Amino acid sequence: MTTLLIATRNAHKVGEIQAILGADFRCLTLKDFPAAPAVVEDADTFAGNATKKAVELARWLAQGESGKRKAESGNFFVLADDSGLEVDALNGAPGVHSARFAALDKTENSHDADNNAKLLRLLKDVPLEKRTGRFRCVIALAEVHPPSSILHPRLFDGACEGRIQFAASGHGGFGYDPLFVPDGFKQSFAELGEDVKNKMSHRAKALDKLKEFFNNQDTKTRSL
Ligand code: IMP
Repeated sequence: MTTLLIATRNAHKVGEIQAILGADFRCLTLKDFPAAPAVVEDADTFAGNATKKAVELARWLAQGESGKRKAESGNFFVLADDSGLEVDALNGAPGVHSARFAALDKTENSHDADNNAKLLRLLKDVPLEKRTGRFRCVIALAEVHPPSSILHPRLFDGACEGRIQFAASGHGGFGYDPLFVPDGFKQSFAELGEDVKNKMSHRAKALDKLKEFFNNQDTKTRSL
C-alpha cells in the first residue's frame, strides 16, 4: 500500500483528492502532522509552488521521527497540489494568485465569495464568447526517503477548459466552481456536483497521470 501525505490545508482539495485516488492509496493529511511548517507559496508558476510545498514537507518529514518511521516502512510520498483559474480576457489572471485574488496586497487567502465577486466585476463588460478560461492543476510528488529523491519531485498536470458565467450558480465544490462552466456542459461545476467534476476536472486529469505512474511501477521497487 502506498501512503501519501496530501500537503494542503484546503479541506475541499483534500476531499476531492481522496475521492479521486480511491482505496488504492492510504491518504494522510496535515491534520495527522499538526507541527508541519506552513509553506509560503511565492513562486510565479503552479509547478514552482507545488514543487516547493512537496520538497519542504518531504524534507521536514525526513528529519522528524514520525516521518522517518513511516518512510522506513516504504512507499511514503508527499503529494502537493497547486491550482487555479486562468481567464483569457484577463491575460491569464488570477492564475497562481487565485486563492488571494480579492486581496492581492495581503499574504493570506481571501474568501471565495470575494474572489468570485472581483472576477465578475472585472468581466462585467466581457461577452460570453470571450469569457473563456481554464482551471489548471500541477501535482508534485516527492518521496520522503531516500533524501536524494526529495529534491526532484515528479510533476503531473491537468487542465479543464470552460467559460466564466455571468452569475454564480450551484452549491457544490469550492472556490470558483459556481462561476465555471466546463466545455460541453451548461451547468457550473458547483451545480454538476462532485461525481461529475471528479471525472473531468483539472485535478482529476493530473491525478489520473499520477495513478498511471504508480500502475506502471514495479510494486516492489516503487520510487521516483
Ligand atoms: P492553492 O491552494 O494556492 O493552490 O489555491 C488554489 C485556489 O485556486 C483555490 O483557493 C481556488 O480559489 C482556486 N481553485 C483551484 N482549484 C479549484 C477548483 O477545483 N475549483 C474552484 N476553484 C479552484
